[in-house]
This record gives sequence, C-alpha cells and structure tokens, in this order.
Amino acid sequence: MSEVQSGQEMNKTVEVPSIVSVSDLASRLGLGPAQVVGELMKNGVMATLNESIDFDTAVIIGSELGFDIIAEPEEAEQRPSDEVDTEGVEQVKEHARPPIVAVMGHVDHGKTSLLDAIRESDVAAGEAGGITQHIGAYQVTKGDRRITFLDTPGHEAFSAIRAHGAKMTDVAVIVVAADDGVKPQTKEAIRHAKEANVSIVVALNKVDKPDADVNRVKQELSEIGIVADDWGGDVPCVEVSAKTKQGIDKLLEVVLLVADIAEQNARFEGNASGLVIESHVETGRGPVATVLIQQGVLRTGDHLVVGGTYGKVRSLEDYRGKKIKEATPGMPAVVSGIREVPNFGEWFEVVQTEKIARDWVSRQVRKHSIKSLTATKTVTAQDLTRAVVDGQVKELAVLVKADVQGSLESLLDSLGQVGNEEVRVKVISSGVGDISESDVAAADAGNAIILGFNVSIKAAVNQLAKRSKVDFHLYKVIYELLDDIRDWLGSLLPPEITEVELAQLEILGIFKVTKGLVVTGGRVKSGQVTVGQDLRITRKGEVVGNGRIVSLQKEKQLAKEALEGEECGISVETNDGIEINDLLVFYKTEEKARTL
Ligand code: GDP
Repeated sequence: MSEVQSGQEMNKTVEVPSIVSVSDLASRLGLGPAQVVGELMKNGVMATLNESIDFDTAVIIGSELGFDIIAEPEEAEQRPSDEVDTEGVEQVKEHARPPIVAVMGHVDHGKTSLLDAIRESDVAAGEAGGITQHIGAYQVTKGDRRITFLDTPGHEAFSAIRAHGAKMTDVAVIVVAADDGVKPQTKEAIRHAKEANVSIVVALNKVDKPDADVNRVKQELSEIGIVADDWGGDVPCVEVSAKTKQGIDKLLEVVLLVADIAEQNARFEGNASGLVIESHVETGRGPVATVLIQQGVLRTGDHLVVGGTYGKVRSLEDYRGKKIKEATPGMPAVVSGIREVPNFGEWFEVVQTEKIARDWVSRQVRKHSIKSLTATKTVTAQDLTRAVVDGQVKELAVLVKADVQGSLESLLDSLGQVGNEEVRVKVISSGVGDISESDVAAADAGNAIILGFNVSIKAAVNQLAKRSKVDFHLYKVIYELLDDIRDWLGSLLPPEITEVELAQLEILGIFKVTKGLVVTGGRVKSGQVTVGQDLRITRKGEVVGNGRIVSLQKEKQLAKEALEGEECGISVETNDGIEINDLLVFYKTEEKARTL
C-alpha cells in the first residue's frame, strides 16, 4: 500500500458502510485482516473477522492506518416485507379503522375509573360476561363503530412508545378531575400528546362531586393553551362522571368525531403489521403478546417477525379472550406462537415464509452485536465524568420484576426519572415473571432490593430471601412503588444542616486576651446566652470569627445564662479577635431530613 507508507503523502479515501465486518473493512483498505484485527486490539476492541464494527470505530482505526474513511451512501432501511413481492398490493383501497385512544391525566383524577366505566358501557362486552382480562387494550362499540382504548399505564406507556419511535395513539383523552383542576401530570400528559401530534379531548371528570367547578378547570386549561371549544377554542371538553356514568356516551361520540377529522384509514387486506403493546410468558403457551394491528389482516398460521424475534401465529384472540381467525386494523389481538417475549412498542410484521423471518431476525441480531470502539469510549468517559462531577452520588441498587413486558418498561422508564444529582436508582437487573431464587441470588450479590410489580414470590424463595437478608417489596400500584423509592432515595440524602439563632450579645468591653481565650463583657440584645453555646463574631454586619462561650458571670457571680437586657461577663474560646462593639451571635445547628 504505497499510499500509506509515507506520512508526506495524502491519506487514501475509502468508503465504508455504517456497519462493516472486520474482513470487509480489511479488504476495502487493501490490508491483511490480521493487521485490522491487530489495530482494533490495540484500541481495546476484541473483534473476530466475522464480527462487525460501527462507522465511528472504522474511522478511528482507518485513520491510524493512514486512511480517510468516508460514509458509503446508505440504502434505505429495509423492513422484511420490502424483500417480498408486493405486486398488486398498491391498488388496495383503504378504509376507516377504529381510532386508538390513550387515557392520561394526573393520579387519582379517575383514569382507571373512566376506563372501567367505558368498558362497562359496552353492550358487546357485557354479553360476553364482562371479561376484564388485562391485555393492554380493549374495544368498545358505539353505534356501528368501534373505538380501541389502550389501558397500559398512562404517560409511561406513551413515552415508552415514543421512545421506540412509533406512534400508536390517535386521540389522547386527558382526564382532569373537576374538583381538583390542572395538576403537574395533567400538564405532562398534555405536553406528551402535543409532542406526539395526537388529537386531544379533555374529560372533565367527577362532575358529580359538589365541589366540582368546571369553569375554573377550563380557566386553568386555557392558561396552558388548551382552550375549550365552548370558550372559543378547539379542544372538546366533555363533562363526565366515572361514578354516575354521566357523559360517557358523549365522550365516545366526541372521540369518534375528533378521530374522523384526522381520517385514520388503513388497509384491510394483505399482510398485517403493527405494534406490540403487551407481552408476557404464559405457562403452557409460552410467549404471548398483545399486538395492535395498524395495517393489513393478521391470521392464524401467519409467519411474523416481531422486534428481534419471530414466530408463527398459533392462536389469535380478541380483547375478551375469544378465539378469532383474523384481526384487522385498529384491533388489539393476543398472539401466541412467538419464539421469545418481544418488547413493548416493538414493530411486528407478517412475512411470507419462515425462512424470510428467520433470516431477517438473524441479520438484526448480527447488527446488534456490533463491536464499537466509540461506544466503549463514551461509556467510560461518561462514567468518569459522573464519578468526578458527582462523586457524592448515592445509588440505590434494585432488581425489578414485573408481570408483563409493558409494565416492566414503564417501570424502568419511571425509575430512570426519579432521583437527582445526589441520589438515583441503579437497576442491576430486570425481567418478566415471579421472583425466583436466582433473582434473590443476584440481588444478594449486587446488594440490591427486589421490587416486584404484580408478581408473587413462592414460599421457598421467600425463605431464601429471608435467610440471605435480601429485602423484597411487592406492589400492585405503580405509584406506590415510586413513592417508596422516593422515600428511600430521600433517606439517602445527607440531612440539611440549618443554623438556629439563639441569642445576640453586644460587646461593651474587653477585659483580658490570652491565647485562645477572650474575657469580655456585654449586653444581651436578644434571646438567652447560655454557657456552652457556639457563636459567631460579627463586625459591622460581617462574620469575622467563630468561638464558644465557656463561662459566664453576672454581677461577678458565676451563672449559667443571661437573658435579653442583662449585662454579663463571658469567656469565649476563640482564635479570632473580639473588639468593642462586635456583635456575638449565638446559635445551634439542627439536622433536618430531606425529601426527594
Ligand atoms: P387514577 O389514579 O387516575 O386511575 O384514578 P382512579 O380511577 O383510581 O380514581 C381515583 C379516585 O377517584 C377513586 O377513589 C375513585 O373512586 C374516584 N373517582 C373516580 N372517578 C370519579 C367520579 O367520577 N366521581 C367521583 N365522585 N369519584 C370518582
């Protein structure tokens, strides 16, 4: 390689894709593979010939070998269906699909109650015996239309879905208790909905309560840019009561109206695609996922890829647990037959054959095992910065178990958000399912507390936990878990130390000064001066020294204390001088526990 032999010569420019295998990089550079592997090793990246590295790593390695690496133009990211013949699918007409609605709002404003009231209002569900299995979503019928409600935890679900880069909600129903008004999570919910460009409907809940004040809430809403339609704005506000069921019908009508304006059309033919909104492992059935169909029709027997895994639809159920043959756009459907538990928010797609699914997944897996020099570097640098900048950070190690993937993701999301620059949560491990012996062992090794959400612990595991002194806590309500975490983190915070002023004394005379001791006299201006108190010496309003009162005399008699207005002689232990007219300020320190 003449180009690289002399430092005088220009570097040779080589195009490299965003992810490149070591052997491919070597051949592009015209070097022996061993040379590239060696260079990588020198930089701390252990990669074999078949393993891949990312672009930034290629740039660094390339430059050390005397090359300018530039990006090769990328082909568009392919989805598995792009690889199959889709001829003819284009002509398929689209139809309106049921709108997908998320209910969000401040805690205790009635999200759960409203979702329950809506579910109960549905005649079809009533006929089926009011099955209330939790699959992350359900549908209600309104006239000849259907509406899909997501009942995954409010904002967390929303942000987790956004984090996965997919939009699944058409309408956000923001629940505001009419007796409580706009609260922090109301604002957060509105912000989420706006950022995701989702239509907003406000449900003014609890209007049955005597202290409900709809106008006050509308006023508060208008102050944050949500102007009710009857106030000249464009946000429908429906008065409802989850308790008396007042307004539920109207709310459904308004949701449909708003959805119609946004025109949610979808293809009701061809291969299905959509998103995972819930997943868990079921004894006897293996991984089970609730998917929300966005396009096409999902049928039993279909091959599909889901996130990083694949499978063949063995059984298909609707939200009531009823076996169905096919699921259409806007419908939540429970699918079994997937090889591994997919993640919340992941994309699924039907492909023609198992081979396509398998190949695609193995390519994805390969992509995810890319060796990266920069990734390692960034992590280390970040860790270092953290350690240096906030060397005081205290971490609470936890191991998290939840019943389903969706809850787990929400929980991890929320746990990542509690804490501050002094204290935070460190999740040492997390997973779906009951608390097991290996969880206890892992928590023991990592000095972690186990947090279980909607899971249980077997007696034997419980005993093991007790023996190993591993703390575990089980929850059914996400907010209770987060409240505990906040309390625990709060207790890790160093206490706030405050000074409480006890007395002030004005110096009128200095009697004797020896090393470390000043005998002086003055008048108590306020409070009560007592032997043993700490003091600050202040001069013209500025602190000039510290000390402690070691003895006190009143009218030449030793005394313990002097009150406001009294004159006294005192001995002060101090290495800072005291002068006539100085003001001594006596104080005590108090420790106050801090909260997060
Ligand atoms: P979430 O935290 O937003 O899911 O709120 P919940 O649905 O758990 O409701 C919180 C509390 O408010 C519960 O005690 C409910 O019974 C009560 N609640 C919810 N909706 C109404 C309503 O319309 N009227 C009245 N009076 N109480 C309600």
